[in-house]
Amino acid sequence: MNEFSVMSQCFAQVRRVAKSSPMYIKKYAGIPVNTLMTKAQFESLPFTTKQDLRDAYPMGMQCVPNNQIVRVHSSSGTTGLPVIIPYSSQDIEDWAVMMERCYQLAGVTIEDRVQVTPGFGLWTAGLGFQAGAERLGAMVIPTGSGNTDRQLQLMRDLEATVLIGTSSYALLIAEEVERRDMRHDIKLKKGIFGSERWGDKIRDRIYKTLGIEFFDIYGLTEIYGPGIAIDCSEHMGMHYFNDFIYCEIIDPVTGVVLPDGEQGEIVITSFRKEAAPLIRYRTRDMSRIIPGTCPCGSPFPRLDRIVGRSDDMIKVKGTNIYPAQVEEILRNIEGFSSEYRIILDNEGFRDRMTVQAEAFEGTDLEELEKELEKSCKSGLGIKVIPKAMKIGELPRSEKKTKRVIDSRE
Ligand SMILES: [Zn+2]
Repeated sequence: MNEFSVMSQCFAQVRRVAKSSPMYIKKYAGIPVNTLMTKAQFESLPFTTKQDLRDAYPMGMQCVPNNQIVRVHSSSGTTGLPVIIPYSSQDIEDWAVMMERCYQLAGVTIEDRVQVTPGFGLWTAGLGFQAGAERLGAMVIPTGSGNTDRQLQLMRDLEATVLIGTSSYALLIAEEVERRDMRHDIKLKKGIFGSERWGDKIRDRIYKTLGIEFFDIYGLTEIYGPGIAIDCSEHMGMHYFNDFIYCEIIDPVTGVVLPDGEQGEIVITSFRKEAAPLIRYRTRDMSRIIPGTCPCGSPFPRLDRIVGRSDDMIKVKGTNIYPAQVEEILRNIEGFSSEYRIILDNEGFRDRMTVQAEAFEGTDLEELEKELEKSCKSGLGIKVIPKAMKIGELPRSEKKTKRVIDSRE
């Protein structure tokens, strides 16, 4: 897909939403979108944010007549109003096409049996994975979320070869397989995991336990759902489908578009979407576009692994801290596992930060705590309370794991 063609489709989409979507009619009031013809002009358009979508609740972003909407999904809102996203039948089809490509890039074939553990319903994941696998012709085992006993039973009895899930749920499954000594009873070969940032330690742990090849999949409800990007067998970044979405990387503070290769926030324009197209949508996900072509030969460009969220930044004792930094510190201390939590509360008028981290069996917890405290002091520049725990002591989640608990007043 050449850039000229992508840009002209983006411009056409801007003109369309400025006429048809109540949200954009308001947003673009006074902006001469009909004369839009250069990339620089496009890059001067205001961003679309999650708050815009909340303000447009329930369907103020809708761009087609009601009778063309065939489905809605909703993002799992943590606070405030949920975000509802309507789909036309073409949108559903396009999404399934991208999802099918994801399976193909991961080497999944019609011989495979795909166990889909994300939830079905308003959340996009379950139905998205289902549609792509059916389009491909693989067999789906649509267990949905929860009930780990039944998941494991079906995985064994129906001989699932591909596991779909969040990385935290995959970790939970891996630990259960290990605990029940089931590895030789199951036929899993591949895993497609996504929807949250996950570090090398979690990967190592899942890999060591299950011994499967796994793939990072990327997506968000606001832009179709999961399946807009996935890594290939080279595992050198996620190919994104630039014939459906246009990606920019911006400086999250200044909003300036950064050149390929530089780390920043991913901003997406869904230029072929019919029911709820978004222009320059701020994903809050931090990554970079990897310059050059992939050794696999795919023509689709690549996004690097998601390193965090631009709004993950927490301010503690006046210092800016990203959870990814804590993860990095833990990775460099021999003995800690991949699970950790940051607890923020008050001690008098001052912030207090506790780092809880699980350590492998047979390690000296007290010794590890000393080392953790020292590394945080030098790595983050602040004093933390270190707490080394046994494997399994921290809560596991089927959805997204909450790494930061902020109960400061
Ligand atoms: Zn590739």
